[in-house]
Amino acid sequence: MEWQRNIKTLTTDELKAWLRDVDEKPYRADQIQKWLFCQQVRSYDEMVNISPALREKMAKQFTLCGLKEDQRSVSVDGTVKWLFQTEDGHHIETVMIPANGRYSVCVSTQVGCAMNCAFCRTAKMGFTRNLEAGEILEEIINVNWYLKDNGFMNEEGGVAQVTNIIFMGMGEPLNNLENVHRVCCTLHNQKLFNMGAKRMTVSTSGVVPKIKELVDRNTPCCLAVSLNSTNNEYRSSVMPVNKTWPIEKLLEAVDEYIRRTDNYVTFEFVLIQNITCTPKAAKELIRICAPRRVKVNAIVLNDGDDPTLHAPTPEEVEDFLAAVRAAEIQITIRNPRGRDILAACGQLAYKKEGKEC
Ligand code: SF4
Repeated sequence: MEWQRNIKTLTTDELKAWLRDVDEKPYRADQIQKWLFCQQVRSYDEMVNISPALREKMAKQFTLCGLKEDQRSVSVDGTVKWLFQTEDGHHIETVMIPANGRYSVCVSTQVGCAMNCAFCRTAKMGFTRNLEAGEILEEIINVNWYLKDNGFMNEEGGVAQVTNIIFMGMGEPLNNLENVHRVCCTLHNQKLFNMGAKRMTVSTSGVVPKIKELVDRNTPCCLAVSLNSTNNEYRSSVMPVNKTWPIEKLLEAVDEYIRRTDNYVTFEFVLIQNITCTPKAAKELIRICAPRRVKVNAIVLNDGDDPTLHAPTPEEVEDFLAAVRAAEIQITIRNPRGRDILAACGQLAYKKEGKEC
């Protein structure tokens, strides 16, 4: 199916080149991008300092709003989940988590995913295509529209805006690095979103060569790695990426990332009873973390999909955290949010793409 390119995907230089091609002044690119990313307009007609003729040229060539809201669910804890339909009729999910004056958004980067992690609903959809940078930016802009339309205020009394981005929705972000890089650069651009690099986190299942590429490109973001297990055999059984790049290779890439960027890396670690939440697993995690500038973000398993896997008891979780903290490793526990609205990645889109669960 043919569809128009999203105007938000274009870099400033690409927009200038297009303007020259259609006999318009290149300096208009800055004005247009201010409308797109600062004013976050919903139609070309709102760009009042752009001539009607140029607005028409843009409308003929580019989509301005490529995502349509299909469903929106609000959890009792304030978490909001969107199901968006893309121009070619696919479905992706976006989640906004409000907490302590911050509005964090978990964005999708692909329609489906090819990584085939055993615990993930998105994996069951298979891979369809990468999202364009403009589509990913629209996920964020749609959340800003929601905050504005519903009267959310920031701590200074102004209209609330998205404060943090986590590339951890549907898809493996590093397999769509060109578009993820564009998104981070647009968000980081002082004239546009002016978002600090520390407020953007790209989370990977462990695509080792792309971690190196992320550093080479100098993408303004932080890195999180879904480690989930310190044991190659178990990790390979639930995350096939580990068969190609086992834990040793992954740690080499993490070390290089830390050395070249001077940043922390966050390890995501799911706690599963008798598997990853045991005294032995805590010891192994300490062995891996102690010599590195890393933080651990532990998540208690969401009981449900697989009847053979269970969440640990609160006491088991406490013992695990205490053991890791005793080794002076920074570990936080992330509480599951939005359970009542199926906020875990892929659950709504999987249903919508005709794969009822
Ligand atoms: S967990 Fe992430 S990387 Fe793994 S299949 Fe799901 S979306 Fe893809």
